[in-house]
Amino acid sequence: MTAFWTEPDYDDHEMVQFVREPSSGLTAIIAIHSSHLGPGAGGTRFWHYRDPAGAMRDALRLSRGMSYKNAMAGLPMGGGKAVVLADNQSTKTPEMLAAFGDAIEALGGRYVTAEDVGMSEADMVAISRRTAHVSGLPVEGEGAAGGDPGPFTAMGIYHGIKAAVRHKLGKDSVAGVHIAIQGTGSVGGGVARLLAKDGAKLTLADINETRAKALAAELDAEAVHCDAIMGVTCDVFSPNALGAILDDEGIARLDCQVVAGGANNQLARENHGQALAERGILYAPDYVINAGGIISVAMEYLSRQQNEACDINEVRKRIAQIPERLEQIWQESDSSGISSDVVADRMAQKLIGR
Ligand code: NAD
Repeated sequence: MTAFWTEPDYDDHEMVQFVREPSSGLTAIIAIHSSHLGPGAGGTRFWHYRDPAGAMRDALRLSRGMSYKNAMAGLPMGGGKAVVLADNQSTKTPEMLAAFGDAIEALGGRYVTAEDVGMSEADMVAISRRTAHVSGLPVEGEGAAGGDPGPFTAMGIYHGIKAAVRHKLGKDSVAGVHIAIQGTGSVGGGVARLLAKDGAKLTLADINETRAKALAAELDAEAVHCDAIMGVTCDVFSPNALGAILDDEGIARLDCQVVAGGANNQLARENHGQALAERGILYAPDYVINAGGIISVAMEYLSRQQNEACDINEVRKRIAQIPERLEQIWQESDSSGISSDVVADRMAQKLIGR
C-alpha cells in the first residue's frame, strides 16, 4: 500500500480524514491543507472516481488551492476541500448527506464546506441540518451576500479587467476596449453586462450558441462560434467557461494583450504562465481575480457564526480590493521577470506561513 503522504500532491496538509459510514454508503475524504489563517474552507465535490487515488489527488490538490485562494482574498479562512466518492450510478441519498453533515460537525468547525461540482444548493441545505459549518446557503433577497456567488465573482472580474487595462494599456476606462468573452453563463454573462455599461466593445461565445446570441443582441455585441473566440483579435481575452484552456495550442492562438477571466485552473500546466509572459500577454491569476464569490459566501458564513447580519457594503469593499492585489502581483512580476502566476503562488505561500 502506498501512503498518501508520498503522493506528489501531498504538501504538508494538516489533516486528511477518511470518512466511511456503511449504513448510508457514504465514503468521503476531507482534507485541510492549512488552518494558518482560519478554518479550512472549500467546497465538497461529489464525483465518481475511477480509482480512489484520483479522489485523494483531488482532495489534496483542491484543498491547497483553497489555502491560496482564501489567503489572497484577504479572508480569515484556511484551505480545505472534501470529496464524496460516488458509485457508478452517482447515488446520492438523504442518509448519505446527513452522515456527511455529521462528519463535518464532528470536526467542530475546523472544516467549512460549500457547494462544488456534483453538489446542489438543496444538498447544502440538507447538510446544514446536521452542521452549521456550511457556507453559501441560500439567503433572502436578490444581491444579498452569501447566496448565488456568480454575480459577486463577476463583479470582482470586472474590477480586475479594468485594473489590467490600466496596467497594460494605460487606459483608465474600458470604453472602446475590445474584450472577447468565452462563456456567457452566470459569471461571463455578468462580466459582459458590467463591461457593456462602460462602453466596452464585446465579442461573446458560448457552447450554447442561443445563450451567446441572446446576450449579444441585448448588449449590442458580436457573437462568434465558440471554436473561434480564442483567436479573436482583441485587447482582453476573458475565459469564463472551462479550465486548462491555456495550453501550448491555446496560447499560440491568442491575439490579445491581456488574459483576465473567472474560469478556475486556466493554465493547463505550470509552465504556461511563463509562456504567456514570453508572448507579452498580461495574465491575471485566476484564483485572485475570481475571488468575489468566495468573499461573499465566506463573509456571510462568518457573520452567521457571530449571529450578525452580513454587511453587504463590507463585501463590496473587499471585492473592490481585488485590483490592488493584482496590481501588486503585476508590479512584482514586472520587476522580477517572474511570471504573475508564480508571483501569486509565492505571495499566497507567504501569507499562509509556508
Ligand atoms: P455556468 O455554468 O453558469 O456558465 C458556464 C458557461 O460556459 C455556460 O454558459 C456554458 O454553456 C459555457 N461553456 C461551456 N463550455 C464552453 C466552451 N467550450 N466554449 C464556450 N462556452 C462554454 O458557470 P459559471 O458559474 O459562470 O462559471 C464559469 C467558470 O468560472 C467555471 O470555470 C467556474 O469554475 C468558474 N468560477 C465560478 C465562480 C462562481 O461564483 N460561479 C467562482 C469562481 C470560479
